[in-house]
Order: sequence, then C-alpha cells, then structure tokens
Amino acid sequence: MIQDWKTLYEVKGPKSLMEMTAVELEETLKETQTVILSFGAVENHGVHLPMGADYFQANVLIRRVHECLAELGRKSVPGLAIPFGTQTNKFERDKLLGNVYLNEKTFIEMAEDIILSLHETGFERFVLILNHSENQAALNVVAKDLANRHNIKSVVCDWVAPHNDFWPTVLKNAEHQGHGGEDETACCMAAVPDLVKNKDVEGWYPEEDTKPVKMSGLYYYGGSVGVFMPTKEDKSPGYVGDPADATAEEGILCYDAYAKWIAAVADKYLFDM
Ligand SMILES: [Zn+2]
Repeated sequence: MIQDWKTLYEVKGPKSLMEMTAVELEETLKETQTVILSFGAVENHGVHLPMGADYFQANVLIRRVHECLAELGRKSVPGLAIPFGTQTNKFERDKLLGNVYLNEKTFIEMAEDIILSLHETGFERFVLILNHSENQAALNVVAKDLANRHNIKSVVCDWVAPHNDFWPTVLKNAEHQGHGGEDETACCMAAVPDLVKNKDVEGWYPEEDTKPVKMSGLYYYGGSVGVFMPTKEDKSPGYVGDPADATAEEGILCYDAYAKWIAAVADKYLFDM
C-alpha cells in the first residue's frame, strides 16, 4: 500500500514549532518568546526500546512542560525535540550498536546554532531539557557561552536527580532503575506503545558497590564524579532495572512529575527580569 506512510504522523498534543506554519508561529510570538527544547540521542536502548527512545520521550516532554508552564500562567512554545546527542558514557555500558552520536564540540556548535537561530526568530527565553543525561556537560557549556557572549537567557534542566526519591513512589521496583529501566520503558510506552517490546524482558542490576565513597556517583545522576571509560567488564544487557514491570500509566505519572519540576525551575529563573 503505497499511501501507508501517511499514517505515520499525527499530532495529538499542543503543536510543536516543527508542526506550526510560519503564520501560526508569528501569531504565537506575539504572545510568548519562551521556547522549550529537549536534547535526546539516537542510542542503543537494549532489546525492548527503539533507538529513538530519548527523542520520542523528548517529543512528549516539551509539550507537557508547555502545559505545566501554562498552569503557572507562563505562555511558551513546545519547540524542538532534538534527536542528536553525545555518545553513551562507556563507564556505564558498552552496548553501542546503532548509536548515532556527536562529539562534545560538535554538539556544542549544533546547540548554539539552533538557539541563536531561534533567537533571531524572536525567542528570548530558552528552557533546555536533557532527554539523554550524557548531554549535560555540553549543554551547560552552551548555556553559559550564550549567556556571556549573547546575553541569552536559558536554564538547563536535568530532571533525573530530583526524581530519585519520586520513582519508588510510582514504580514497582524501589531499586534504582537506570538506562532503559522501568521508568524509561514506561515513558516510551506512554509515547510510542507500538515500538516497545518489554514483555518477558529479564531484569538486570549491577553488582553491589564494594567501594562506597561519598557522592561518588555520576554527576548527572546527582553524584559528583565524571568518569567516562570502562573501569570493569560491562555485563549489562544494555539496560538497568526491570523493563517488564513498566506500564504506560506509570509513564504518564513520570512525565507529569518531570514536567512540573522543569516548569517550576523555568518559572523561578527565566521570567522575573
Ligand atoms: Zn534513553
């Protein structure tokens, strides 16, 4: 059926920038100069999630943040879910088949160009979200350089650490769920149910930490350390946690919590001047 491709795209939430006409954008810009961007990755997510998992989640999150900002009386545009990000952290896992990644410097150039061109269009405030934790360092460089060199107002929101105490309240597993685990699988089920194959996927957790050191976790998960090379053999199947326990309902609760936190941060830092 040659016309089947037409069913691939359907907009159900508020329109993103990608989906607006120039006239719609022009009208929107009269009401708000705030845009929401999220940076994902094309990345191996194990046996049960698509390569575009981070992108598909970003595509939902920018719209949900837009709604949560509206509840705070702040108008915004769900901007872009950017599919390209930096490489997987090889300290965590070395299942890299399928990864399409940018070097840190290329990512910085890309993100700066995207933000500067949106600034030329008329946007003044940028809510920058991570849908791939490994983008955090580069995205902070981008935000700081753009502030210093172009006076551009932005905030980088890493929503992972603030939800470490939230996940056990909505997930079945209290143990930490990592890349591709119960929460991420749940978010993908809510966004793109037909692309998730989590049934009967076996749970996997790393061995217990034999050398506990204060705050020695990765900085983008709430620790204080950057480590990027493998320090022991990677035995993970490409995910951490129990993907089979995930449900779309849990995913919706997760998006709500992340979006509320991001909107509160944006409201705190971007609007009062
Ligand atoms: Zn992911």
